[in-house]
Amino acid sequence: MPSPLSFRTVELPLRHAWTISRGTSTVKRNVFVEVRSGGHVGYGEAAPNVRYGESWESVEAALQKLAPVLEGRDLRYFRDVSEALDAALQDNPAAKAAVDLALHDLAGKVMGVPLYRMLGVDPTRQPVTSMSIGIDVPEVLAVKVREAADFPVLKVKLGSGQDREVFSTVRALTSQTIRVDANEGWTPEEALAHIQWLSTQGVELVEQPLPAADVEGAKWLRARSPLPLVADESLTKASDVPKLAEGFHGINVKLQKSGGIREALRIIETARACGLKVMLGCMVETGLGIAAGAHLAPLVDWVDLDGNLLLAEDPYRAHPVVGGRIQLGDGPGLGVEPRAAP
Ligand code: MG
Repeated sequence: MPSPLSFRTVELPLRHAWTISRGTSTVKRNVFVEVRSGGHVGYGEAAPNVRYGESWESVEAALQKLAPVLEGRDLRYFRDVSEALDAALQDNPAAKAAVDLALHDLAGKVMGVPLYRMLGVDPTRQPVTSMSIGIDVPEVLAVKVREAADFPVLKVKLGSGQDREVFSTVRALTSQTIRVDANEGWTPEEALAHIQWLSTQGVELVEQPLPAADVEGAKWLRARSPLPLVADESLTKASDVPKLAEGFHGINVKLQKSGGIREALRIIETARACGLKVMLGCMVETGLGIAAGAHLAPLVDWVDLDGNLLLAEDPYRAHPVVGGRIQLGDGPGLGVEPRAAP
């Protein structure tokens, strides 16, 4: 019997060159998964990130290993399947997320209900999403800020060494609330100086100021920071959460880091148990991956689900965003279909 899983890699050109503290990219290669059962098709997406040791090649290799795990299984029991995937292959969270998303999409289609209803999540409680502004020259920053005018909150990427210039350029253009993400770009002393200044500039929070490995620096900074600090690169799985409470006020959960919805829910519950705030973020991904996050978003405090808006074209019919809020419809599963027949 053939595996119900198939996949293909798609090149996704970006609308603007995307620069963060680690480097610049103009194109993203994500891997799209289909899982078929009983006349239904579930869609999933892997958005691999080199920071977490993944690439489209590693995702394809992982999916080759994971495909046989689905053979002969009742795919409606996606929790059992997800555990079997973890048992078959360590790590590779983006590859597992693609399968996990496709299984949830499939289960929703079999049941005829949206994912949020399967999870008991109220879609009307969707927080606003921020729109991310990558590091750039002032003229391009101005274009990006103009394009993000409909979003109540911006997320400004820093950590390049030109932080005050980049931030001041954006701040001078808009009164929107700003979140800052340094993507591990600062030392503790730099971070404290920047954060003290940012706290006077209408900034709501700061994401990942220090390298993830600097655990002691995070504790030192948390004791002094006038702004909430959110762990992103420091967190991948639920077992990371308890120790992060000493160095951060919140955590940023992403389906592509956690390996999908099952572990993301576990991270959210663990963070709550540890008294931490929760952000739900994304990688550069299409409206398909973004939709999966949006179904969980009413469970969290801060949402950053803008990855598809960074693409020149979205190959999926993404849920519309109105006033910064993603509008989930009542379509079954993730509720998102490809624009063209694959
Ligand atoms: Mg981040």
